[in-house]
Amino acid sequence: MREILHIQGGQCGNQIGSKFWEVICNEHGIDPTGQYKGDTPNQLERINVYYNEASGGRYVPRSILMDLEPGTMDSIRSGPYGQIFRPDNFVFGQSGAGNNWAKGHYTEGAELIDSVLDVVRKEAENCDLLQGFQVCHSLGGGTGSGMGTLLISKIREEYPDRMMLTFSVFPSPKVSDTVVEPYNATLSVHQLVENADECMVLDNEALYDICFRTLKLTTPSFGDLNHLISATMSGVTCCLRFPGQLNSDLRKLAVNLIPFPRLHFFMVGFAPLTSRGSQQYISLSVPELTQQMWDSKNMMCAADPRHGRYLTASAMFRGKMSTKEVDEQMMNVQNKNSSYFVEWIPNNVKSSVCDIPPTGLKMASTFIGNSTSIQEMFRRVSEQFTAMFRRKAFLHWYTGEGMGRDGVY
Ligand code: GDP
Repeated sequence: MREILHIQGGQCGNQIGSKFWEVICNEHGIDPTGQYKGDTPNQLERINVYYNEASGGRYVPRSILMDLEPGTMDSIRSGPYGQIFRPDNFVFGQSGAGNNWAKGHYTEGAELIDSVLDVVRKEAENCDLLQGFQVCHSLGGGTGSGMGTLLISKIREEYPDRMMLTFSVFPSPKVSDTVVEPYNATLSVHQLVENADECMVLDNEALYDICFRTLKLTTPSFGDLNHLISATMSGVTCCLRFPGQLNSDLRKLAVNLIPFPRLHFFMVGFAPLTSRGSQQYISLSVPELTQQMWDSKNMMCAADPRHGRYLTASAMFRGKMSTKEVDEQMMNVQNKNSSYFVEWIPNNVKSSVCDIPPTGLKMASTFIGNSTSIQEMFRRVSEQFTAMFRRKAFLHWYTGEGMGRDGVY
């Protein structure tokens, strides 16, 4: 058994994290009380990757929920799957982080971090052979961003040889709460470059554009964005949760996708794109899935792969389909677009098929790409950062928490 410990922090992290659990509970046949109600042995074969087995045959998510204010976690607890989580694993404060990375990383978050680490240790000790951690958070706020990256660095210190995967939501002015988000995101990225092994980039700018342009939602809500995120998270983790060969653990995923250690920020794509409640009407063939999955319009990151080159990529198809057809279609894309793949990594695109489709769809595919074009997204955030930083605008919020003093950054 190779367990993964999931941690969700802050408002966004808790929202997308609990959606992830709803989706995967559904796929594995686990009901909101933790009972197995499924009908396919595949659903349970690797259930221990994400769930602990408790007495009475209950499956309990190996999940820790943290926040610096109680609101979001209260609503999760009273939501449809609220009772499935272990009550001891809710760790929260009252102060809030005020969308300030420094509060999350150095002051308020630093006060709460030891209680989170206690729960981390307890869960880790219960594991047979922990493969690593996955963290859900946003980078634009204070808690998920500041405290999230503090936790990641503490975990790295204590578990240096375990893998660290993140699902990181990048801020966009199109859906932003505050002007200082580029500061918070930049400080976080600096941490993630050093202390995370693999980061799945979920860019609110791209998510908003997909909702608006492709799904024709005129005023996309976080619920709409999070629907795309949870479908993607389910797709990305599918190889870890169901039996199969390709990318079957976090380390194998990293080995295939990361040619240089700092270049571990991935673009993810999903097909077919659906809005909430509309899944059942969509059915695509393997060629259509393949074509859409590689399309920049299906990427959860606002960057165009045609403005760069792929170092590596990996695709997961789900549902009943012919592996031969999948291989042919994938070869086809590569042959027709060979200039978009670096030639100095032969066989840099891998694909696999998992026969359990996501709930509500017959077939789907998820794409993970390590593309140099991701710099377009980093450049966007960096330009927003520099515009303010040049004038030292809003810096007092950060220096007020001790940053810039005594060698703290
Ligand atoms: P925290 O609670 O201090 O970690 O702060 P938030 O998670 O609210 O961080 C604010 C950033 O997260 C902003 O960029 C928001 O646009 C984004 N955000 C907040 N909630 C959600 C959500 O449910 N979904 C998505 N996609 N983004 C969110």
